[in-house]
Amino acid sequence: MGYKIGLDLGSTAIKMVLVKNNEIAWSRKVPTAPGQEALALELVKGAVSECGLKESDIDQIAATGYGKKLMSAAGHTVDEISANAQGLHWLSEGRCRTIINIGGQDLKVINLNENGRIADFKMNDKCAAGTGRFFEQAARILDTPLESFGEMSKLADEPLELNSTCVVFAESEIVSLLAKGVPKERIIKGLHHSVARRITHLLGNRNTPKSGDIYLDGGPSQNPGLLEALEDELLMEVKVLPNPQFTVAFGATLSLN
Ligand code: ADP
Repeated sequence: MGYKIGLDLGSTAIKMVLVKNNEIAWSRKVPTAPGQEALALELVKGAVSECGLKESDIDQIAATGYGKKLMSAAGHTVDEISANAQGLHWLSEGRCRTIINIGGQDLKVINLNENGRIADFKMNDKCAAGTGRFFEQAARILDTPLESFGEMSKLADEPLELNSTCVVFAESEIVSLLAKGVPKERIIKGLHHSVARRITHLLGNRNTPKSGDIYLDGGPSQNPGLLEALEDELLMEVKVLPNPQFTVAFGATLSLN
């Protein structure tokens, strides 16, 4: 019946989209854990039963992400950079020229030409600073859910200058700031700005789009406080699509015939 499935087996979350006529009909994510293929197949089963389909209604499955090779049920695999590029080019209707993707454990900048082809690409996967894992650790130390970081940082007037860019040092810096009684709101705003500066640095002048739009995607792009800090640092509008954690899974389906 013309359905396609895109599976993004990421370092932190497995994301699945069910697609018909290049539109997302169903999506879901689960945390990455051992037995990734079984977890992914559970998602497929969930989509089939919740959408009232039969397994035979699924024409093709494409897998991407760091665990893509583990997915023997997928007839096709595609690398996550190409999947991200194709997904955002399509979803932005060709307007996107720069993608900033923040994943659980890495940070990528992808530049596209007007046809959606990859013109340049940079990745920071050596250090967890600025990634989802960095925010998760900060959330634990601050005893504050990540989902409320956006609201919290709005309450602070001025971001606190954080000196540490390394996760390990940032952790001890946060602990000592809390001990001094610095409000959590200011620390969170400071974290957003420190990550935004890191992204701006990775982006560099050369990668800032001269035309077209800049898009943020990946799980942490759902944090409005980070988006605001990034726009402040870049002095540019940064766009976030609905469901920005699923762009890569969707893009994988575009690589199917
Ligand atoms: P990967 O592909 O590497 O698994 P994702 O793009 O799926 O990475 O992003 C995973 C990260 O997204 C996690 O580290 C998680 O903390 C973060 N995340 C998920 N939902 C939210 C949210 N609502 N606000 C902020 N961060 C989020």
